[in-house]
Amino acid sequence: MSIKVTGIAASDGFAKAKVYQLVEPDLSVKRVDIQDSASEINRLDQAIDQSIHELHKIREIAAESLGEEEAQVFDAHVMVLSDPELVQQVKDKIESESVNAEFAFEEVTEMFVQMFEAMEDNAYMRERAADIRDVRKRVLAALLGVTLPNPAGIDEEVIVVAHDLTPSDTAQLNKKYVKAFVTNIGGRTSHSAIMARSLEIPAIVGTGDITEKAPQGTLLLVDGVKGEVIINPSAEEEAAHEKAAADFAELKKVWQKLRDEKSVTADGVEVEIAANIGTPRDMEGVLHYGADGVGLYRTEFLYMDSNELPSEDKQFVAYKEVLEQAGDQPVVVRTMDIGGDKKLPYLKLSSELNPFLGYRAIRISLDQDEIFRTQLRALIRASIYGNLHIMFPMIATIEEFKQAKAIFEEEKEKLINESVEISNDIKIGIMVEIPSSAVIADQFAKEVDFFSIGTNDLIQYTMAADRMNERVSYLYQPYSPAILRLIKHVIDSAHKEGIWTGMCGEMAGDPIAVPLLIGLGLDEFSIGASDVLKNRSLIRKLDSKEMASLANKALYECQTAEEVKALVEKIVHQ
Ligand code: PEP
Ligand code: MG
Repeated sequence: MSIKVTGIAASDGFAKAKVYQLVEPDLSVKRVDIQDSASEINRLDQAIDQSIHELHKIREIAAESLGEEEAQVFDAHVMVLSDPELVQQVKDKIESESVNAEFAFEEVTEMFVQMFEAMEDNAYMRERAADIRDVRKRVLAALLGVTLPNPAGIDEEVIVVAHDLTPSDTAQLNKKYVKAFVTNIGGRTSHSAIMARSLEIPAIVGTGDITEKAPQGTLLLVDGVKGEVIINPSAEEEAAHEKAAADFAELKKVWQKLRDEKSVTADGVEVEIAANIGTPRDMEGVLHYGADGVGLYRTEFLYMDSNELPSEDKQFVAYKEVLEQAGDQPVVVRTMDIGGDKKLPYLKLSSELNPFLGYRAIRISLDQDEIFRTQLRALIRASIYGNLHIMFPMIATIEEFKQAKAIFEEEKEKLINESVEISNDIKIGIMVEIPSSAVIADQFAKEVDFFSIGTNDLIQYTMAADRMNERVSYLYQPYSPAILRLIKHVIDSAHKEGIWTGMCGEMAGDPIAVPLLIGLGLDEFSIGASDVLKNRSLIRKLDSKEMASLANKALYECQTAEEVKALVEKIVHQ
């Protein structure tokens, strides 16, 4: 007899294969009173070092299979283990309560997990809880001397069944053999779900008890569109599944047809849907999904992937590759945005009380201009290989922009004098992510070639709400009329001077925000490559004039973000 189990459709697609149960080892810990707290602390330090070492390895695998953006989750994990506050709390507990490292580590991390999980309406914060859980397993396994499962070792076609899949499990799944995965818990925005979509592996999460119902080796049918699993299917069920899979493949072909279509509204207004990338490797996805160029190349990874400042030549090779692959399409390269939450061990930055308001991005570039000059020279030299746009991050004042641009001009001049062939059409723009620059966008628009709105930062600075702080996360409101009015001012100011405005923060891919942004006249949306076709299909259904009147209502008649969301849902998404 077959059994049907339903869950949350986390990544679409169909699969048929036998179950591979990924069983977690027993990581339960007991409280043990200890005498020698120094040696417990030493064990803890060793376990943390071992875990960081493992995480670096998994990060490498993930960058290969998933791309740089997705691999970043492991930087977050390393950061959890490098967080002096968390580690110190564990050590304090070992000392003050004379308890074993396992117990102290579990108790302290549990406190953080519960704190983050309490924020029910904030998916971002709940993901931080998942990060801590994942890291905790690794450290506890190291302390207890047990081995974690090794999903990278699977070498026959299977459907992975697990209670939960951590991001590190998911990153190690080999797409060649793992045809789908099904878990007991999890949601659509969990890291494993996001990674499954990135890997294009069908996934169903939150089934409740799939691990109990589907033992090792049983045949499974997975329908990742409906979120349905059939265990031990009948011949009729197998036939129906095959038909549904074939129909879905057809539908995907229709979607993929949008790959070479224009990003244009129903009434003919053309926009650009570009992609955010972290390394040249990410260009594969950009080309596969037919993005209209690169709207944000985060160059930090060049600096973070290395033990020293990357040389001009090393940078040149990376920029050239991206520009060549993009052909005539625009490529917006952001100069380094180190500082804030992104640290470099070889660049001695002192610790600060408010790193997000501190010494970062263009502030470092202008202060340590040799680093900046090297990057600009590499970019200018690469400019002949494509359609280069250079963008400065965290610009707060006109003086900063002028200073940065003057350095660019100096390096350009030097290269010309050295008879290096360069493009004479490099565009220079800024990220609008600090409220001061949004407010005087009319003045900036006279100086720059383009704007790209960085909503991830713009929202937190405008609302004075650190988005890592759960107690104020309710203020992180992309749909707030205050944020929307700032965006409108930036777009209008740009258009008055005949320049374009893009957006490269997460908001640019949000289906509630997109209709409003079309209404406000945004010219370019830069998002994850795998979301490009979905966004294109949404935009092709929207009428720009209707969206303009919707945006007008949202900005001037709605008082709250909630009202704005309800309005868009009523008018656009029903
Ligand atoms: C932003 O702030 O919106 C942005 C795109 O930059 P980052 O997320 O890299 O800070
Ligand atoms: Mg930013």
